[in-house]
Amino acid sequence: MNSVFLGPPGAGKGTQASALSAEFKIPHISTGDILREEIKAGTELGKLARSYIDDGNLVPDRVAVDIIKNRLEKDDAKNGYILDGFPRTVPQAEMFQKILEDMGSRLDLVIYLEASEEVLVERLGGRRVCRDCGKIFHLVNMPPKTEGVCDLCGGELERRPDDQPEAIRHRFRVYQDKTSDLINWYERRGLLKRVPGDIPWEETYEMLRETFAGDDGSRTGRD
Ligand code: AMP
Repeated sequence: MNSVFLGPPGAGKGTQASALSAEFKIPHISTGDILREEIKAGTELGKLARSYIDDGNLVPDRVAVDIIKNRLEKDDAKNGYILDGFPRTVPQAEMFQKILEDMGSRLDLVIYLEASEEVLVERLGGRRVCRDCGKIFHLVNMPPKTEGVCDLCGGELERRPDDQPEAIRHRFRVYQDKTSDLINWYERRGLLKRVPGDIPWEETYEMLRETFAGDDGSRTGRD
């Protein structure tokens, strides 16, 4: 199943997508993770992306689209994938559609993780991410076994620069301005499924699991 996860910052796209990816053995492709890797590696792309990301702004559409195009050409994306954080704007969705057509492929499902801003601000403030493997924790909802240390790889946990309060507020404004239009865009195409993202994450996961396990295409309005 080729799927996209939409939702405001902090709705749980990364956490849910990474658990589904492990269970259903399809890649979890996050443009944010790819960009953070590029920043860490000090590449030209990383240098370009850093100024946008740290302030909570979007990188140019063309940059995000090129990243996805290259990534979808890899073999592991042939049997389905979960896109997390892409597309972020209607122009990106339009370019993505064209890429899929050129590849003779299509999108099967768009999950919209819905959540109130109040819950999300609280969540993002407590989010900690492993600087080595990217695993996501939360100080209250999903704490690591040892404070400040990743359960999986022992790496140091850190707060993302764009999870600072001012950047969080800015990311919400960017989401409202640029990304929320995608909800109608995909709804009109019969691809959107709304899933609550402000309940305990295990409950959201169970709903998503059923959707992914019962994939017969009927729910998405396909023939
Ligand atoms: P995320 O990890 O999805 O919250 O993304 C972190 C940051 O990476 C965003 O605030 C943007 O600066 C950048 N980014 C990630 N995906 C995209 C995208 N599809 N288009 C533009 N910028 C993006």
